[in-house]
Parts: sequence; structure tokens; C-alpha cells
Amino acid sequence: MHTRDAVFLEDLCPKLRVRRWRQSLHTFTGKSCIYCGQPSESIDHILPRSRGGLSITENCVPACLSCNGDKSDTEAFDWYRRQRFYDPRRAMAIRAWTEGDLRLALRLLQWAQPNPINHELTKPISPDQDWSLLAA
Ligand SMILES: [Zn+2]
Repeated sequence: MHTRDAVFLEDLCPKLRVRRWRQSLHTFTGKSCIYCGQPSESIDHILPRSRGGLSITENCVPACLSCNGDKSDTEAFDWYRRQRFYDPRRAMAIRAWTEGDLRLALRLLQWAQPNPINHELTKPISPDQDWSLLAA
């Protein structure tokens, strides 16, 4: 009964589900900005929504407010290459992320920034995708 109620509640409140999904993205990078490593306070669309970017895991990365605001509606890779804190390992991680390979992305981020990353391999929850492959 209890679980059925929970599922029902989630169906009624898609916002709840989106919030959990966003939190899971932050948890995945250890709450650090995928671009610069500062604490992530927002979710950035790699391909901006204004250019048709979707709110799916492959297009959404944890970002600090500074990066998110500065990047604005620029395409992420163009913007990132011009930054002082550009790190090719992070660029590779972002590329892997956009291809849905979050495990590779996490490994590359750990390489770029050994300390603050969450080592628990937390499984992100996507509203429309099954990430069970990540559990392996
Ligand atoms: Zn940042």
C-alpha cells in the first residue's frame, strides 16, 4: 500500500520527481561544478534550452552560479574552451556525460579533481531513463 501511494504521489507531482533528479545530478559530482569544481548551486543545460536543449540527464550538468550565469545561452564546449580554468579532463568528462556515460564522466572528474568527488558512485535518477547499467 505504502509504495503504491508513493508512486501515485510521484505521478501526481512531477515536480517532486524533477527535484529528486536534479539533486541526484549534484550528488553524482559530489556537489561540484562540472566546469570549475566550485560548489554546484544550479543545473546547467549543455545545449541551452533556448536552442532546443532538453532537460534530460545527458544535457544537464551541475554547475556553480558563476559558470551558469557566465555561460548563459552559449554552447557549453565553445564557452568552456575559452575559460581560464579549462581542463581537458573535465572537457572529456562533459563529453562523456553528454553521451550518457556517467561512469566514465565521473572517472574523468575524479582524475581532474581527486578530493571533493563523491566516491559512492551514486546512481542518478533520470525522469525518463533507466540508469540501472550504472549499478554494475
Ligand atoms: Zn563553475
